[in-house]
Amino acid sequence: MIPRTFEYFSPQTLDEALSLLQKLGPEAKLLSGGQSLIPMMKLRLLSPQYIVDINRIPGLDYISESDGHLKIGALAREYELENSELVKSKFPILADTAKVIADPLVRGQATVCGNLAHGDPANDHPATMLALGATVVATGPNGRREIAIEDFFPGLFTTALNAEEILTEVRIPLPPPSSGGAYLKLERKVGDFATAGVAVQLTLDDGGICRRSGVGLTNVGLTPIKAKQAEAFLVGKTLDDATVKQAAGLAASESQPMDDIRGSADYKRDLVRVLAARALARALDRALDRPKGGV
Ligand SMILES: Cc1cc2nc3c(=O)[nH]c(=O)nc-3n(C[C@H](O)[C@H](O)[C@H](O)COP(=O)(O)OP(=O)(O)OC[C@H]3O[C@@H](n4cnc5c(N)ncnc54)[C@H](O)[C@@H]3O)c2cc1C
Repeated sequence: MIPRTFEYFSPQTLDEALSLLQKLGPEAKLLSGGQSLIPMMKLRLLSPQYIVDINRIPGLDYISESDGHLKIGALAREYELENSELVKSKFPILADTAKVIADPLVRGQATVCGNLAHGDPANDHPATMLALGATVVATGPNGRREIAIEDFFPGLFTTALNAEEILTEVRIPLPPPSSGGAYLKLERKVGDFATAGVAVQLTLDDGGICRRSGVGLTNVGLTPIKAKQAEAFLVGKTLDDATVKQAAGLAASESQPMDDIRGSADYKRDLVRVLAARALARALDRALDRPKGGV
């Protein structure tokens, strides 16, 4: 289908984009990579009156390290994340995630910030950012505010951004030594959304005890899920087989899947258990800097 008619704006600065959003009100939609917005407009699930395209604003396409954080700007694309040496060396979990999003054509345009701003529980980055304890920077007419990622997804296709704000940056704390993470997803075919996905990020102490854990779940609820019970259970423990098994069971019990074309709720819950155990094992291998085990 062809989208309904809309008026198109292409601001050249962030200030100009913010003024436009303020002037045009909630009928305006921001366009970054267009990989979710345009399909929704073509299906006429969304018919915004105004499009504010931020692609010509310079200086928003960075992936950089400063002040103890990895910083990802609003126009950093998935393929840039996938190919970034900084990301591959310090955040393999993010490289895992970018690699399984859609296909190379989509990843050439889609932005990491757009992936979060869309608020789709089937998107892959929300779970990863939950595991990593990221912070989102929202810029609006009154300046910038920081939003903890766990407060960013209040409901289905809803975020904590208001209509006048732009998600300008995602900040992720640099992991301490002996940290490792992994993202695993099962998809029906390459390029599909997850039937379920699990993100795990761990930090160990010198004795191999887990000191921090983050566990995020994809597409098994109305919002991305932070598996808080599994996270709390892992802290203070040595990650032997029994602990991993129990934590994976907790993550499964925290999922809230529904029956749909990708499978029954029971199947998806069990899938979370299996993927969580595998993601924990891979994250542990990476934290200990040892070759990948059998998963
Ligand atoms: C064939 C196909 C397969 C896909 N498979 C996957 C998949 O496997 N996993 C996955 O995670 N995603 C998948 N997607 C979805 C898509 O890749 C993501 O949702 C995409 O990353 C969105 O980013 P974008 O930059 O394209 O956002 P856009 O489409 O431009 O925008 C999406 C929404 O976010 C808002 N928005 C965008 N940027 C900002 C910003 N900086 N500040 C505030 N609001 C903003 C827009 O107004 C819009 O409402 C797929 C898409 C396609 C077309």
